[in-house]
Amino acid sequence: MQLSLDGPTIVFTTTMTLVTLGLMLIYNSTPRRGDPSVRFWGLALLLGAMASWGFHKRGEWADIWTIDAANALVIFAYGLLWCGIRLFANRRILYGIALAGPVLWLAACQIAPFYDSATARITLSSTLNAGYLIAASWELIRLREALSSKIPLVGFFLLHAAITLARLPAAAFRPLDADTNLFHTPWVMASALESSVFHIASCFLLLSLAKERSEHRLQRLAALDSLTEISNRRDFMGEAARLLRKARRAGKPCAVLMIDLDHFKKINDESGHQAGDEVLKSVAMVMKANVKPTDLCGRIGGEEFACLLMDCTLDEALGVAERLRGAVSDMIPRVTISIGCASTDHHPLADLEILIGVSDRALYASKNAGRNRVTAALAA
Ligand code: GH3
Ligand code: MG
Ligand code: MG
Repeated sequence: MQLSLDGPTIVFTTTMTLVTLGLMLIYNSTPRRGDPSVRFWGLALLLGAMASWGFHKRGEWADIWTIDAANALVIFAYGLLWCGIRLFANRRILYGIALAGPVLWLAACQIAPFYDSATARITLSSTLNAGYLIAASWELIRLREALSSKIPLVGFFLLHAAITLARLPAAAFRPLDADTNLFHTPWVMASALESSVFHIASCFLLLSLAKERSEHRLQRLAALDSLTEISNRRDFMGEAARLLRKARRAGKPCAVLMIDLDHFKKINDESGHQAGDEVLKSVAMVMKANVKPTDLCGRIGGEEFACLLMDCTLDEALGVAERLRGAVSDMIPRVTISIGCASTDHHPLADLEILIGVSDRALYASKNAGRNRVTAALAA
């Protein structure tokens, strides 16, 4: 295959690609649409587009624009990319360090022997660009959040940094004199094509990184009860059924507690609905504090809660339920709860629906026996 691409075509395409990608990212960074870090990445691409146009005008425009300013813009663009990644990782944005690169570059440009050596210029600019890329990769590597776009993105960053640094031995091997228009040498042309591919791929991956995070947030929000911030009914039923199957496969028992507040209507009637809401929040908090982190708590109705206790027999579940009942009556004034309790060691064939059904019957036995108590659902 024979490609015939001339310098101006590549530059024009690269610039247009960078402008389009940059605007697309900025469009996706509004508070309603996405993550604010995306704005940094979009801005970086627009700076890259300006620099790419500047490089192309070498010889036509004064060197201060096509060498000094254009390279400073590229270095600052990589600095902004790094800032955006830090913001994404919830770390402080270090503008000083992002500006240090371009400032160092502009300062070096004031030194005549440096400015006259294309090799020296390539060495400094490539090192600074690669430095920001490696720093951005490091921020992503130490970000603990499970986001699948992270790995290919780090791969692209490091590959691009390696290709950028590969210019160093290339420049040393074939020193360029001050008058060479770098943009018209074959290996710089190749690297312009490579950077277009890099920018398209990384833009796509940066966007999907931000989208992945917002999807995870929405999934979490959809699973939580907005008042008590524990699982809502739908999430509890789905998760509990999954955990129950897992426990059964592992041959371990698990137990269900059904919990209902006693005479809660009275609290609402006497102290108001808002006070009632506070009570529901406190009960959820006491529940969470009295079970293991691997257990599941959910609000499955107005003032009804459920817990799935993992690796737990009926006897152990009765102990947990009793502790929970005591904690609620001790810690929340005027509030008591009734509990019904069932477990797979007494109902080995029961699925979640059946376990909930039998513990619900046990809960109503607690109510009928005078409330503020725990009843176990024994095998029939
Ligand atoms: P029992 O001991 O028999 O369970 O009596 P109870 O009053 O707790 O039960 P009942 O079913 O008669 O009343 C439940 C009350 O819970 C009625 C309803 O207004 C209240 N409730 C349900 N959801 C909420 C909520 O989100 N916030 C508040 N504040 N109250 C709620
Ligand atoms: Mg009640
Ligand atoms: Mg009820």
